[in-house]
Amino acid sequence: MPITHSFDVVIIGAGHAGLEAALASARLGCRTALITLNLEQLVNISCNPSIGGLGKSHLVAEIDALGGEQAKLADLSSIQYKILNRSKGMAVWALRSQIDKYLYARHARRAAEGQEGLKLFQDSVADLLMEDGRLIGLRTERGVVFTCKAAVFCTGTFLRGKITIGEYTHSGGRIGELSCDTLSESLRKTGLRLRRLKTGTPARVHRQSLDFSKMEREEGDEEPLRFHWKEGLNRNPRVPCWLTWTHEGTHRIIRENRHRSPLYSGKIEGIGPRYCPSIEDKVFRFAEKARHQLYLEPEGLDVEAYYVNGCSSSMPEELQWEFMKTVPGMEGVEILKPAYAVEYDSIDSTQLTHALEYKNLPGLFFAGQVNGTSGYEEAAGQGLLAGINAARRARGLGDFTLPRATSYLGVMVDDLVLQGGDEPYRMFTARSEHRLSLRPDNADRRLTAIGRELGLVPDDQWAAFKAKEGRLERILPKLRSESMAPSDLERAFSVRTAESARYAYLFTRSDLDTAALAAVCARELDEREEDVRTLAADLKYHGYVENQRQVVERTRKREETAFPPAFAFEGIPGLKVEAVQNLTRVKPATLGQASRIPGVTPADIQILLHHLGKREG
Ligand SMILES: Cc1cc2nc3c(=O)[nH]c(=O)nc-3n(C[C@H](O)[C@H](O)[C@H](O)COP(=O)(O)OP(=O)(O)OC[C@H]3O[C@@H](n4cnc5c(N)ncnc54)[C@H](O)[C@@H]3O)c2cc1C
Repeated sequence: MPITHSFDVVIIGAGHAGLEAALASARLGCRTALITLNLEQLVNISCNPSIGGLGKSHLVAEIDALGGEQAKLADLSSIQYKILNRSKGMAVWALRSQIDKYLYARHARRAAEGQEGLKLFQDSVADLLMEDGRLIGLRTERGVVFTCKAAVFCTGTFLRGKITIGEYTHSGGRIGELSCDTLSESLRKTGLRLRRLKTGTPARVHRQSLDFSKMEREEGDEEPLRFHWKEGLNRNPRVPCWLTWTHEGTHRIIRENRHRSPLYSGKIEGIGPRYCPSIEDKVFRFAEKARHQLYLEPEGLDVEAYYVNGCSSSMPEELQWEFMKTVPGMEGVEILKPAYAVEYDSIDSTQLTHALEYKNLPGLFFAGQVNGTSGYEEAAGQGLLAGINAARRARGLGDFTLPRATSYLGVMVDDLVLQGGDEPYRMFTARSEHRLSLRPDNADRRLTAIGRELGLVPDDQWAAFKAKEGRLERILPKLRSESMAPSDLERAFSVRTAESARYAYLFTRSDLDTAALAAVCARELDEREEDVRTLAADLKYHGYVENQRQVVERTRKREETAFPPAFAFEGIPGLKVEAVQNLTRVKPATLGQASRIPGVTPADIQILLHHLGKREG
């Protein structure tokens, strides 16, 4: 008799997606199992030792507002914070943090082990158990059975993972770890389409082999910054990063060995992210550039390993040593772990619903890199949403989805489900048509009440949120009534005016630095700077946001016009063949969703609108 465990929800894979999914499911009261290949690698930071950054910090803030874990882990393990895009508008400011990857993993494990209702298992899930077209459980490689009402696959880069370093290849989801070679076939049998993607990571090098005197020191920001709603979690020392550059000598070695590059010899077939090119890609594709930046980031406080950001590669190991030694400050470099590429199977995410559930097999959910995304923040966000939905499925509740208009999480899921894509997906602020109103500083005002209603936001977070709301309500009238004297304006901003001006007006002026003005205003009114900053951004973007709102309102009707069940797109006069094929494959629920499917043009939407109108008539 095989060992049989019975759970409401089973999560497969304890990476960034799996952790959020497991915590959300257990916090919503479901008996939850988290099965992973190796418990010692729970929530491994596979690549860059950092959290946040452009577009991504927006996701971290939204995860936090909904009661997820990532922001807290980032604060507990941060060893440097920096605001990116500071010279641009506050809507696109982004917080990025260097983290100690070992501290991050330790706190993640503590959160998982301490979570009531959650049990951890080390095993490899190999097969799905189905009955009457529904998922009823899973079987592991060792034959252990887990029965469940819903399961979330968060298997990252491990499905038929293949590592390449020059001529060397090995199966593995990450270097030094196993891959999972049978699960892809089991998934394929359910009708799921799989595709081959690729990602890569740079070498890790020994700190003592680096000469920092030849590099530029990069400190973080001084002011107290954080991701999580609660203050005071971060007590770690701050550590600098180091900047250096490749040059013609480095590029020549790479160019002369093009034939040995698995990327260019055709050995690697998976499609990699264009926005994150390897060093050989940069040298060949941007041949006009005389140098490329390398950024050395510490992997932790108690280890000597540095991550060489900007230098991911799959070139042979001896060439990695050779070209890195040409870089100023790296002449004596010692590689601890070579750069490598990993190819893996991911699913075609257009087969999922907006709840991240496979359309053809109720109860089967997917989240993270297995859905074709890249990045810890994208993975964690999907994990949270899939965990919530799996728990709701187990309890017989309806789907939980977020619209594009109120969150980047909603944008990401909508993009994945309707557009899929050929390369790993990552978040950019440009992906959102509502980006002026979707800022990290207002994520709590957009989502905390939703998280509370779901049952994920605990009492202390809710109380802090309500207190902040109270403060903002009190401060806003002061910004409208209190003024800055001409002499103060001239002193602080070298601006000459004859009369004093109200803060609410000053924040709309494009010639004044909003953040600096918010700091002055907070001091003058004796209020918290972060509160004043939030209101300042609201005031500054008010006109644009109102415009956006009107555009959204105009398209809302289209967004909400639903197709009848089992609607057939074939045979509608005038629809292009490509549009029919893509609409039939993705099965959009509404006209709005249809309009975002690649290959569906505004003309096709007009035809569909007309056709639906005729049916109704
Ligand atoms: C080499 C490499 C380079 C990367 N480069 C970048 C980059 O440049 N930029 C970027 O943003 N992101 C990069 N990433 C991606 C980033 O690490 C991932 O996006 C993120 O970790 C994905 O999280 P996840 O939870 O989806 O999967 P992972 O963190 O990969 O976790 C997957 C988990 O699933 C478990 N698992 C798999 N199969 C099974 C099974 N059958 N049974 C039980 N458990 C299973 C594994 O043990 C693992 O714990 C890289 C990843 C790798 C491996």
